[in-house]
Amino acid sequence: MIISGLKTKVFHGALIFLFMFIFFLSNVQAQIIPGPDRKPDEGKGPFERLIIRGAVLIDGDGSPPYGPVDIIIEKNRIARVVAVGYPKVPIDERRRPKDATYELDAAGMYVLPGFIDTHVHAGGPPKNPEADYAYKLWMAHGITTVRGVALGPFGWTLKERGRSARNEIVAPRIFAYQRPGSGEGWKGGRITTPESAREWVRWAAKQGIDGLKLGAEDPEIMAALLDEAGKHRLGSTAHLGQVGVARMNARDSARLGLTSMTHYYGLFEALLKDYTVQPWPHDHNYYDEQNRFGQVARLWDQIHPPGSEEWKALIDEFLKHKFIINPTMTIYEAGRDLMRARNADWHELYTLPSMWDYYQPDRRAHGSYWFYWTTWDEVAWKNFYRRWMMFLNDYKKAGGRVTTGSDSGFIYNLYGFGYIRELELLQEAGFHPLEAVRAATLHSAEELFEPAGKKIEFGLIRPGLLADLVIVEENPLENFKVLYGTGAVKLNDETGRVERVGGVKYTIKDGIVYDAKQLLADVAEMVRKQKEKTE
Ligand SMILES: [Zn+2]
Repeated sequence: MIISGLKTKVFHGALIFLFMFIFFLSNVQAQIIPGPDRKPDEGKGPFERLIIRGAVLIDGDGSPPYGPVDIIIEKNRIARVVAVGYPKVPIDERRRPKDATYELDAAGMYVLPGFIDTHVHAGGPPKNPEADYAYKLWMAHGITTVRGVALGPFGWTLKERGRSARNEIVAPRIFAYQRPGSGEGWKGGRITTPESAREWVRWAAKQGIDGLKLGAEDPEIMAALLDEAGKHRLGSTAHLGQVGVARMNARDSARLGLTSMTHYYGLFEALLKDYTVQPWPHDHNYYDEQNRFGQVARLWDQIHPPGSEEWKALIDEFLKHKFIINPTMTIYEAGRDLMRARNADWHELYTLPSMWDYYQPDRRAHGSYWFYWTTWDEVAWKNFYRRWMMFLNDYKKAGGRVTTGSDSGFIYNLYGFGYIRELELLQEAGFHPLEAVRAATLHSAEELFEPAGKKIEFGLIRPGLLADLVIVEENPLENFKVLYGTGAVKLNDETGRVERVGGVKYTIKDGIVYDAKQLLADVAEMVRKQKEKTE
């Protein structure tokens, strides 16, 4: 008995070892593939003196558009913006700056600061095995900076951040926000005490992360993480998940010094009317994704209504803490109209079959919760959005900052495309398009630089700032849809034909000019190849 028991144990030990080995191998295999080295024909520049000619400038600070202007870029910095005339009359050639080493004819086009997506993940198997797919979709939509929350594994992300900073890959600038307890070299394991929380922040700060991506932390751990993050001048953003929100809602986290909340989690809970927890149905199970995503919208009429004392008090308190709201409305939109999300214009050409598979209802895939999505579910989400948008707009009106993150790569939402949709949703919430652009540029830049105590390096078109710009032929303030890679549908009255106009023309990052349509063509080719393989 004893001997056979021992044998069984040895056998078990071997089995466990074997399983661990297989797990290790599959993990290695399952790692997201880094961006490939940038080829010589990918992007032009930076130049000694690049001049963008004749554009209309839309800045990120809420100013009205103006032009024609010539914009001088020296290497990777904006050097000067020169007024060269008046609309609808020939340009005064004498006023034009000279000695360009490269010229970009942008006559009649619109130039904006590069967009910032402050909530991204680069994907990975089984969705999109290669980060390049997300990188190019972002860049093709004018996104020159992303905040990874997290972009990918700890060490991997820091490496990619460096490669992007050196322009060795075609990718936006990367800000690395990481989860407590993560990091290949971290020996402390899971964070279970305030002491270990502080130790991890110190360790992670030394590795060079930019900030913390928090979740449903216990209050004492949240307090320790945020206090230590403040000491190291790290930013912080939190998805205040339903498991934990009863003790850590948006108000609680703002009081502890959180830089920004992401999504809506914790916001409605800070306004609950009759309960201190969401009144869940008796059979609610958080691990059931349809429960999780279906029930959250039922919060819409459980809160103190818009304009109430409690509503206003929460806005005041957020303002006091300079709290930033990063709503990522775009990622939940399928909840209010599933058919729209499933049939978006871009799926055919730009959604990888593996991505499409991931979106399908599956009890094991995060956000693929359409087990039985009903009219009631959509009505609840429509009501939820109305109130959510009212809060965001009221916060904006009171002077609060709302920023643009997309969290694309889930729920039928594709990288880049999902981000442009966020601008449209801000407009629906009551933002003027200029306010939406400001959210996407200046305010998102402030979200990234302020915690470090630094001045912004991008987010406006100003001499001295980094040359990160978006150029588009149509006016995005008239119609944000022209920023979609698939463009906007328009009837051509001269030919009588229906056309698609727009799509970003050039994305300039760090003074390097990328042909945005070529980036999209590269993505379409990735999709075509994968389809060929699976057929
Ligand atoms: Zn996310």
